[in-house]
Amino acid sequence: MADLTLAPDEPAPDAATDGTWLACIECGDVHAPFDAPIYRCPDCGGLLEARYDEYPTFETFAGAGRGVWRYAAALPFDKGVSLPEGNTPLHAVPRLEDEIGTRTLRIKHEGMNPTGSFKDRGMTVGVRVAAELGVGRLACASTGNTSAALAAYGGRGGMQTLVLLPAGKVAAGKVAQASLHGARILEVDGNFDACLDIVAELADRGEAYLLNSLNPFRLEGQKTIGFEILERYHADYSRYPDRIVLPVGNAGNTAALYKAFRELVASGALDSEEMPKLTGVQAAGAAPMVEAIEEGNADIERWESVETRATAIRIGNPVNARKALPGIRKTGGTAVAVADEAITDAQGALASEGVGVEPASAASVAGLRKLRAAGVVDSDEDVVCLTTGHLLKDPDAAAAAGTEPEPVPADTEGVLDHLRE
Ligand SMILES: *Cc1c(COP(=O)(O)O)cnc(C)c1O
Ligand SMILES: [Zn+2]
Repeated sequence: MADLTLAPDEPAPDAATDGTWLACIECGDVHAPFDAPIYRCPDCGGLLEARYDEYPTFETFAGAGRGVWRYAAALPFDKGVSLPEGNTPLHAVPRLEDEIGTRTLRIKHEGMNPTGSFKDRGMTVGVRVAAELGVGRLACASTGNTSAALAAYGGRGGMQTLVLLPAGKVAAGKVAQASLHGARILEVDGNFDACLDIVAELADRGEAYLLNSLNPFRLEGQKTIGFEILERYHADYSRYPDRIVLPVGNAGNTAALYKAFRELVASGALDSEEMPKLTGVQAAGAAPMVEAIEEGNADIERWESVETRATAIRIGNPVNARKALPGIRKTGGTAVAVADEAITDAQGALASEGVGVEPASAASVAGLRKLRAAGVVDSDEDVVCLTTGHLLKDPDAAAAAGTEPEPVPADTEGVLDHLRE
């Protein structure tokens, strides 16, 4: 297993800039963060993680405004290209809580970010780093939401953006966003994993700065989801949730939440037994992380062919698996696969309580339902489900899952007759 221990008072190595450096999670080598773009360990190819000479306590956040940059004490910069992002609602859903049967159930709705997904949290930090590096062109492979966020934040920062999408497999709202925010959109005749292979090679050749979640600074922004959940939950209940259930694609969020918890443990702000159990949910047609958890493997095996209606998590080769698998295991969590029908059901249940999410997001609730029914999740648990993207991202899926419009004549009597039918 990769070693993800954070040392509380590690002196900054020579490679560090202002107390920030990058460390390889496999071989431990350290690298300069802002000299030149770097995405993987040059020595062993391992994933890199941002490290700091100091980790945050909750006190370091107090009085610091709202959203991602409230947590600047845990980020490499004080501010970034911001729209602004974060500070998303933690909805109560009393009917779902009752039906599923947990002590409490809250929904952290990341669809309420500026471009409608949590990807904005990563981009505000990632684009700030791009400015620091002085790169001209930003690029990503995407199942849709990353491209929308990159286009918006790149545009805001005055940079060129290039996105590679799997042709015909991206929800309409997301392509529309990337397009109007000014990205050059390349439609690849292949799946997401093929798009990522290509864009990673373009980045290695210096053609563009890579802003997929392989980029360690994206995850720094996304870890603020964890800080927000813990702060808000504690303010409401004077305790932390037992479990956080989230959809898993590239496993960036799973890795990012685990990083948030580890930082708080390193500073002494959180006991390691208080870390919420990270519980990942994948669609049955794209579930390499679930396979690795079930089989006890240290890494995933790439699925060459993947299919699900939840296009945002239609991913067969989750790049952050080596960071996320230890997060699931060390927090006592698990991973589960759900059928597309269960995802659609959960999307409808959330929508009927006013919470509009896209299919991939509803996977979290579908997964919780399945684990609660199987007795893996207990009735006395406090649970937070993460919903990652907004309903309007995928209007076709919403329309297909919802009620049909009914044609009526253009007069009141005709409408009343129809209603009586
Ligand atoms: C990107 C995305 C995911 C997957 O998140 P990872 O961090 O890659 O696991 C899930 N849902 C939505 C809506 C997304 O946009
Ligand atoms: Zn290495």
